[in-house]
Amino acid sequence: MTGLRANDDLHLGNYLGAVLPMVELQKSLTGGDKLYMFVPDLHSFTTPVDHDSLYRNSLENVRVFLASGIDPGNAQTVLYRQSLIPAHSEMAWILSCFTYFGEASRMTEFKDKSEKLGNKGVTVGLFDYPVLMAADILLYNADYVPVGDDQKQHMELARTLAERMNNKFGELFVVPKAWKQQLEYSDRDVSVRIRSLSHPENKMSKSIDDPKGTILLTDEPELAAKKIMSAQTDDKANISLDFETQPGISNLLQILALLDGKTTQEVADEWSGSGEYGKLKERVADVVSQFLAGLQERLEQIELGDVEQILVRGEEVATVAANEKLLQVQKAVGLRK
Ligand code: ADP
Repeated sequence: MTGLRANDDLHLGNYLGAVLPMVELQKSLTGGDKLYMFVPDLHSFTTPVDHDSLYRNSLENVRVFLASGIDPGNAQTVLYRQSLIPAHSEMAWILSCFTYFGEASRMTEFKDKSEKLGNKGVTVGLFDYPVLMAADILLYNADYVPVGDDQKQHMELARTLAERMNNKFGELFVVPKAWKQQLEYSDRDVSVRIRSLSHPENKMSKSIDDPKGTILLTDEPELAAKKIMSAQTDDKANISLDFETQPGISNLLQILALLDGKTTQEVADEWSGSGEYGKLKERVADVVSQFLAGLQERLEQIELGDVEQILVRGEEVATVAANEKLLQVQKAVGLRK
């Protein structure tokens, strides 16, 4: 399962960190496996958004899933919006009452986002964000949740809450797999954390205003190529994979690897030792602009009305699964007989 907030245009980091693994996993689904892919629209306004476009943006997100290759006709796949299934909110409340204030306060995403928002913008919703995320995951017994590296701590919290509830109430929840197993399952050798092209010490993010560092999926391919050609690198004149000392170059290697279907190490081995940063940039610019051109062409062919219908069907299926788990939890905590 995975979710992608609808608070703005999606970017290359979202695609490579969260959408691509789901497309790959859908192809390898077997037996009783299920693939849950949703828009956490209630999460979308944990940071300020334009509420007039939220509804449409949620549909646009799913349109990106489809254009990226998610097959909505696959019987094992469920596509839905979080807010259409009230069990998410109720489960989040219950879990909030079993989450310690101290542990929620330690979430680095909360701290980072709070810092950027300043005092006025930091809401209780932003604080409770990881608990709602845990509810999203635990409601559907999800084992594997392919998300970017930035979500690692939130995944740990979901595991902690599942274990805590199981210890107190008996086997209620499936505990999602540990991070290392998650990476293995998605066949990744390193966590996916696409950096900003202009500030490679930071992740590429739609929550931060950084147009030169961010490649939006809606960017003209030529513009994306330009951003890559002017990506910040270093003065070592030596290509090697090291996110600590050469984050800009390593970022380019990782982007290239993911779009070429190779491991990051394989691509690093091909280029390592070379000092030709320009050539590497040209190659990445080429691959990224071709990818965007193809994606944008497919996007144009998908009607939002069709997307809405697909979601309504998925929401029926998701509601049944979520309500079943919620009832079990309501019984365990003493709300139902
Ligand atoms: P943002 O930080 O841009 O607001 P979200 O928090 O909505 O993005 O992230 C949606 C999904 O995309 C999550 O699974 C997240 O891990 C992934 N993601 C976001 N940014 C990146 C990135 N730079 N690299 C890899 N994955 C990312």
